[in-house]
Amino acid sequence: MDLGIKGKWALVCAASKGLGRGCAESLAREGVNVVITARGADALEATATAIRAMAPAVQVRTVVGDIATADGRAAALAACPQVDILVNNAGGPPPGDFRQWDRDAWIAALDANMLTPIELIKATVDQMAARGYGRVVNITSASVKAPIDFLGLSNGARSGLTGFVAGVSRQPQLAGRGVTINSILPGSFDTDRLKQGFRANAAKAGVTPEELADRRKLTVPAQRFGTAAEFGELCAYLCSLQAGYITGQNLLIDGGAYPGTY
Ligand code: NAD
Repeated sequence: MDLGIKGKWALVCAASKGLGRGCAESLAREGVNVVITARGADALEATATAIRAMAPAVQVRTVVGDIATADGRAAALAACPQVDILVNNAGGPPPGDFRQWDRDAWIAALDANMLTPIELIKATVDQMAARGYGRVVNITSASVKAPIDFLGLSNGARSGLTGFVAGVSRQPQLAGRGVTINSILPGSFDTDRLKQGFRANAAKAGVTPEELADRRKLTVPAQRFGTAAEFGELCAYLCSLQAGYITGQNLLIDGGAYPGTY
């Protein structure tokens, strides 16, 4: 299927690895020029080189910086001639017990996972509407639908973003002018973030990180973790012309892990 987005420009935040990288790769394969950001230059440049090799016809620009800061966002926006597609992403907040989180911990989580996407939406959607096409895809978490007890910072910050997006995506001056805003809610995906969790918890459980991962896979109906490539393909579809009537949605991609009927 031709997604009809060849030649568009996408800003894909936090995209040197994992789910952000998966989105950038899928969009580039569809002929979308991409600006990718991350805090570390080496991994970001390696990813850019890989994307250029797989999609030689597209432009790939890199911006090193923390997307959760005003400077990082300004640099990312400045590198993109026009933002037709915005993929909001940043590292997730740390796990823990809410009794130990002070105001600074909450502000950091809100900055990265709620206020940064809101700032980037604010900076881009009216221009998208003026051009008659725009796509915003927020990478959030399955924890938006089913909270995870030790990820309270994530549950809270991402719910704030989800509530904001539910309202703004339905504004006729956006939805009626070709701009869609949706969120993708990953369950368990085989990325560095997930592996880091297994490394951190294996010793406590008295098993190897690989054994812990295998146990966790069995809790997913699909009996495996998702891949960044699968995630990226869903993102690219949401950015397609064909998906123009899908807005304000929270799409789970979790191998069936969410247990509810609705
Ligand atoms: P990852 O650690 O594999 O990759 C994160 C990427 O973001 C890296 O490229 C990193 O350099 C970049 N990054 C992180 N913070 C940044 C910042 N402030 N500014 C710029 N770049 C930044 O993580 P992932 O698994 O791809 O997760 C992406 C998001 O999805 C996270 O918010 C995570 O919490 C969420 N999530 C992931 C899973 C999963 O199973 N992997 C599940 C639910 C939610």
